[in-house]
Amino acid sequence: MTISKLRQQLVAGETTPAAILNNLAGEISARDGQTGAYLSYNLEAALAEAANADLSLPLGGIPIAIKDNINVLGQPCTCGSKFLENFISPYDATVIRKLRAAGAIPFGRMNQDEFAMGSSTENSALQITRNPHDPARIPGGSSGGSAAAVADFTAIASLGSDTGGSIRQPASHCGVVGLKPSYGRVSRYGLVAFASSLDQIGPLTQTVEDAALILQAIAGGDPLDSTCLDAPVPDYLSGLNDGVKGLKLGIPKEYFGEGIDPGVRKNVEAAIQALAAQGAEIVPISLPHTEHAVATYYVIAPAEASSNLSRFDGIRYGHRAANPSDILDLYQKSREQGFGPEVKRRIILGTYVLSSGYYDAYYTRAQKVRTLIRRDFETAFAQVDAILSPVAPSPARKIGGSSNDPLHEYLSDIFTLAANLAGIPGISIPCGTTDFDGGKNLPVGLQILAPHLGEAKLLRIAKAAEIKS
Ligand code: GLN
Repeated sequence: MTISKLRQQLVAGETTPAAILNNLAGEISARDGQTGAYLSYNLEAALAEAANADLSLPLGGIPIAIKDNINVLGQPCTCGSKFLENFISPYDATVIRKLRAAGAIPFGRMNQDEFAMGSSTENSALQITRNPHDPARIPGGSSGGSAAAVADFTAIASLGSDTGGSIRQPASHCGVVGLKPSYGRVSRYGLVAFASSLDQIGPLTQTVEDAALILQAIAGGDPLDSTCLDAPVPDYLSGLNDGVKGLKLGIPKEYFGEGIDPGVRKNVEAAIQALAAQGAEIVPISLPHTEHAVATYYVIAPAEASSNLSRFDGIRYGHRAANPSDILDLYQKSREQGFGPEVKRRIILGTYVLSSGYYDAYYTRAQKVRTLIRRDFETAFAQVDAILSPVAPSPARKIGGSSNDPLHEYLSDIFTLAANLAGIPGISIPCGTTDFDGGKNLPVGLQILAPHLGEAKLLRIAKAAEIKS
């Protein structure tokens, strides 16, 4: 069920918010034992909210599942980490406040890679999440629970966060829609920070229309997040069906080179042809600094993470080690015990690139290359309205397949990282399925990138490219 269909039924009196929630709870008990998308949910609390739901509001009565790094008052917020396993949020994130103001009901805490570091959800310290299309495979990550639940029909829609692809890549692997808004479009107040110059919150949904509905509710300025822009929020729904006739769509040659699975290439090229058949002009372009995106991101993101995660000291939040000999020992033991291996790797990497003597060689240089990557997009968007590419080089791999090889895992982020480095919006929409590495009919995603604050056009192109099932 989509948000838009359920809204019609709710308004027509054919269903109730409580019936929707009870239904979801039934689906969760039927299937989530296998999928493992939910870390927790509180049916009673949601039903209490449902009793007061205002059905005249745009998302009135619609439950939305929330990634476990977005604070919801009174609910757990583990970030997939032992460190925060017993943490209960003392406040609502701005996106939650806005969802509630639009009538929605936050329901469910979704599994993720620890502190959103990863692309498979295997870095969760709490549980495994499986891909509903093939339980032997990863759902992608880091918003793996948010994507898997929508694909498994145990959630109608969800929120995720995207620092380098964490909404788009799991959406691609699970065959759902995932939208990363422009930097500054959506407030991050109440999102547990990973890399503050890259993080964005966005929706994962069954349809492009549903993604537009949620973006409409959560976008807009916020005095509590100084990076959030006060720019007016356009109507994302009114032009959704305007089509792509006359639009110029860029195909970056660097995104179609070696290393792409042939099934991914075939499906993405078919989606491009379908847009051409609807009247879009397909324009070959170049984003020459693409090859440096992985190296740049994996300096800047860990640098910011090492700073952001210093707040987890065993004193203010979460885990506190027992029997410390002194304060330094308390910090060290709490962090040693609370953080998993990937988080430690990132903190060590980030601390190294920020340390005196290495700062200029790594961090400053990465910032310079980041500017070059952003300029690549500015040059491209002087010629084209949007850019089309794959989301990931291959469909979902098997669980356990890459866990000992972080570098291979980092390289698979190649097509999604640049949008975060440049601050532009990106969407992943399903564009067919393919067989891969023994798996059958695995989803493939098409990525569409647009200029900063170009979400309306992005959604309109996505709507035209959406495969009607
Ligand atoms: N896979 C990337 C990383 O591990 C991106 C994660 C994200 O977007 N949160 O950092």
